[in-house]
Amino acid sequence: MIAVGAFFSLYTAGPQKPETVGIEILIAQIKDEKVKKIDVKGETLEIELSDGKKEIAHKEPGESLSTLLKNFDVSPEKTGKIELAIEDQTKNFWINTILSFLVPFLLLAFFVFLMIRQVQGANTRALSFGASRARKFDPKETKNKITFADVAGAAEAKQELAEVIEFLKQPKKFHDLGAKIPKGVLLMGAPGVGKTLLAKAVAGEAEVPFFHVSGSEFIEMFVGVGSARVRDLFTQAKKNAPCIIFVDELDAIGRQRGAGLGGSHDEREQTLNQILVEMDGFDPTDNVVVLAGTNRPDVLDPALLRPGRFDRRVIIDLPMILDREEILKVHARNKPLAQDVDFNRIASRTPGFSGADLANLLNEAAILVARKNGAIITMPDILSSIEKVILGPERKGRLMSDAEKKITAYHEGGHALVSHILPAAPPVQKISIISRGHAAGYTLNLPTEDRIFKNRSEFKAELAVLLGGYTAEKTIFGDVTTGASDDLKKATRIARKLVTQYGMSALGQRTFGEKEEMIFLGREITEQRDYSEKTAERIDEEMNAFIEEAARTAQDILNTHREKLESLVQLLLEKEMLEKEEFDALFAKEANESSE
Ligand code: ADP
Ligand code: ZN
Repeated sequence: MIAVGAFFSLYTAGPQKPETVGIEILIAQIKDEKVKKIDVKGETLEIELSDGKKEIAHKEPGESLSTLLKNFDVSPEKTGKIELAIEDQTKNFWINTILSFLVPFLLLAFFVFLMIRQVQGANTRALSFGASRARKFDPKETKNKITFADVAGAAEAKQELAEVIEFLKQPKKFHDLGAKIPKGVLLMGAPGVGKTLLAKAVAGEAEVPFFHVSGSEFIEMFVGVGSARVRDLFTQAKKNAPCIIFVDELDAIGRQRGAGLGGSHDEREQTLNQILVEMDGFDPTDNVVVLAGTNRPDVLDPALLRPGRFDRRVIIDLPMILDREEILKVHARNKPLAQDVDFNRIASRTPGFSGADLANLLNEAAILVARKNGAIITMPDILSSIEKVILGPERKGRLMSDAEKKITAYHEGGHALVSHILPAAPPVQKISIISRGHAAGYTLNLPTEDRIFKNRSEFKAELAVLLGGYTAEKTIFGDVTTGASDDLKKATRIARKLVTQYGMSALGQRTFGEKEEMIFLGREITEQRDYSEKTAERIDEEMNAFIEEAARTAQDILNTHREKLESLVQLLLEKEMLEKEEFDALFAKEANESSE
């Protein structure tokens, strides 16, 4: 407004402003016949002289120009020569008054309007806060829908879910027989085994919409939001029936009620209650199936697992070797692979990998090749990606001194030798003294097949292999380095489990310490002691016994096979990295020589 004012004052103070003259001067000019034209605007007279000059004069209000001229004795002939224009001032007056009153009022109204609109916006946002954030996928709308063909392995899970698909396709067949349909199916398995993928595939097979929501999305700072979202989600789902709701990370809301300390758990409880209420309130004809994924079935509230809720449970295990091969093939579909890529060998190198890990592995290999500007992915690319996924990226820039390299070579040689000699230990796949991630070097030994159980002698062998590095350093250099600390930590953890969880020590067949879930200030308090001080001492003794025995085994092996260790170290220092074949060849050669 200041700017507008300034502009107008400048404009009106412009240079063309006509001169203001008195009435007497005007009369004199009229009498001299110098005036060409007079514009009467109310009390203002705008005068144009015959020479083009412009002037302004003011008359008394209420007095007309003709009376004025008569009063000054101007003769009518002279008046007749002047062009007279009289403007209707009343119209102008009204426009002026109304505008001067209306403009500020309109401005004010405009601001009020803006403010109201903002407040309303906040209101609608607050309302949508309680709306569910579920993402909807409709297989009928997307071209690349996911089906069981995209899920490799997991045969049992597929079988279990086939029933759900059939129901979603032909609900009538089941209703006619009076059959109650599963409302909830709980998919249990480690992260990345394909729970979400399976749920999507079920929706794709049944060609029904799929609502994806994560358990943690229900939880907000405000009590009541979670349950509002649950209500909204189920209302939406019923409108789209038949359909599938998939709740990922169910454990985020479905933890046992009352286990938490502190107030924030009220909100989780309410959310959980609302889910239970919604699931109970399902009409059998609603045709909505709730699938949920969790990797912590142990912490779920028992109320969730009752019949009529998540009464079906499908366990998805980490893939075994054949399944891993299948998964690799699924993810290799859109990648150019060299002839030498052997899926079976990759699968045997990746025990414990989940489907997501395998997908990531092939992706890493593709990135590696792209960065080398290659065109196809070869076997060595994939093998080095496995190590990258397990141990972190190679660090060629981290230079080791020759002395450190030697120590690392003996350390890794120690691991490898013990692993090779002990029959209960898995065979060596690879040794490297190139640092990767945090490790200065590493020895990769993997079992030839997937195992469900592990026995006591295998654990003992594992301990001996872990201590092989430490023992080698001590034997050769008479000193130890910090490089062994990670091995020692692992060994201690295994020894503790052997005693306290697996009942494999002299303390007998019982467990020590109860695992209990409690969350306090964001930290999980896990162990509860259920044994005496005296037993605690004995646990320590037993753990030490395991570790000492393992150290002795490692020491014996290193003493008996000292020359083999030396030749292994020579080869390692030379090549920095040994594959299984090279390692095995070394031992085969020496075995031949000694038998000759
Ligand atoms: P979860 O929900 O169990 O954590 P996801 O279903 O999100 O795991 O799986 C992550 C990714 O891993 C999937 O998108 C898929 O690419 C891959 N994956 C997992 N399991 C399989 C499988 N059995 N077959 C093919 N791909 C799989
Ligand atoms: Zn080590």
